[in-house]
Amino acid sequence: MSPIEIEPGRLFVGGRWREAADGARTEVIDPSRGTVVTTVAEAGAADVDAAVRAAREAFDAGTWSGLSGRERGRILYRVAELIRENADELARLESLDVGKPISLCHAVDITNAANDYEHFAALAHSLDGAVRDTPMNALAYTKREPLGVVAAITPFNFPLILAGSKIGPALAAGNTVVHKPADETPLSALYMAGLLRKAGVPDGVVNVVTGTGPVAGDALLRHRGVDKVAFTGSTAIGRHVAATAGEALKPVTMELGGNAANLVFEDADLEKAVGAIIKAFVFNTGQFCMGGPRLLVARPVYATLLGILADAVPGVPVGDPRDPGTVVGPMAGEKHLKKVEEYVELARKEGGRIVCGGERLDLDGGFYYKPTVIADLSNDSRVVQEEIFGPVLTVQPFDTEDEAVELANSTPYGLASGVQTTNLARAHRVADRLQAGIVWVNDWAMLDPAVPFGGVKDSGYGREYGPEALDAYTKVKSVVVSLD
Ligand code: NAD
Repeated sequence: MSPIEIEPGRLFVGGRWREAADGARTEVIDPSRGTVVTTVAEAGAADVDAAVRAAREAFDAGTWSGLSGRERGRILYRVAELIRENADELARLESLDVGKPISLCHAVDITNAANDYEHFAALAHSLDGAVRDTPMNALAYTKREPLGVVAAITPFNFPLILAGSKIGPALAAGNTVVHKPADETPLSALYMAGLLRKAGVPDGVVNVVTGTGPVAGDALLRHRGVDKVAFTGSTAIGRHVAATAGEALKPVTMELGGNAANLVFEDADLEKAVGAIIKAFVFNTGQFCMGGPRLLVARPVYATLLGILADAVPGVPVGDPRDPGTVVGPMAGEKHLKKVEEYVELARKEGGRIVCGGERLDLDGGFYYKPTVIADLSNDSRVVQEEIFGPVLTVQPFDTEDEAVELANSTPYGLASGVQTTNLARAHRVADRLQAGIVWVNDWAMLDPAVPFGGVKDSGYGREYGPEALDAYTKVKSVVVSLD
């Protein structure tokens, strides 16, 4: 049993666990079986108001913002240690909630979350300003100050990591936080509330309100006590969030949808590229904003690569997330499974050829879908242009480098992209021309907290991670001292 005392199922406000004011609760489903595993409180506007007030009081009291960066950093290092010490329980919760394979939870979610808190711990004690040279007889310097109360709204697919990508920099900079996790996957957020407290984060500094987007999310977004909104989610909801926050002149970071292209040139090391291609579209059952669901292949190797994929993809282990050998688990919810089914049906209507997969996997009543490869779709088909968010790969040929870049940049999204080539000059040339926040060369999903990521176009704006992350969680104040 974990040494951390948590009470999943209740809201965490001002350092205390409490029921929703109206007693409302909602069910949490195990996607590998379709059964209810627990219930959690469903926050209403009054609960959100209480959470924002708690965060405001904690900010104004200076229990966190008044600490030195080094003291805050020390506590954030402790958070990273506690994540590692409680890896088994955190991985179990994340796997149960999202349907992620347990081995993936350990290797990716837990490992990255701990690394991320370490990264932000280091940033906390390197927050600095600058002395500016001016012709005035004055000492002019800048300092970074926290913004106040941060509303963190996160999606269902990487609950632990994406919460940390907001809570980490917010705390490093001295802000307080109200976190609203995704309706479907709230468990690790509640566990982390207990763990942050155990690490020494004072009461009221991090508050967690579970609930729906239209009620709890919207109330949080609109609350006048919130100073900044950090949102990760779909482009459709992101537009609403950005418009609402914009009306109130609140700064926002928008990490939105993606539909990345993976470009394979004729000079690529195909054996290596195949691993990157498969990882790019099956990782997290395709529920990966930075996944690579669009494969663009140079015509001379198109047929060969399609043949390799037709042989290899059906062999990817799909199954019970509790089995350490499983690589692909179920979709996180039934609605996501239905969406994938609809898109594959649409692909058939749009003239697509199903190379492999193309159907559900009937297993234990869970929400499984077989990894699917589709060829022969035109570039303007909806299945190519829209974000499917499932284990589905479309494959298109190209004849020239220019055409490859044009196809890659042809969707409204711009989060990630990949180039598989052994030609060094081509790798840099093409990376320069791709409209994406991050480009991977000769692999996929190489992520580290030192490396900033975020989107362009409909994939959003603002950057998470890297030292750049702190720009979104601080304001710069200039102080000019007369020396007369
Ligand atoms: P979603 O947009 O449906 O929900 C995201 C969050 O917004 C949830 O917490 C939800 O409850 C909340 N929400 C919904 N309606 C709201 C409202 N009216 N006001 C305030 N909050 C509201 O997204 P999802 O289905 O949970 O996640 C999948 C999407 O997230 C995909 O589009 C994916 O690409 C994107 N995503 C992006 C990144 C990134 O870094 N760019 C990372 C992960 C996921």
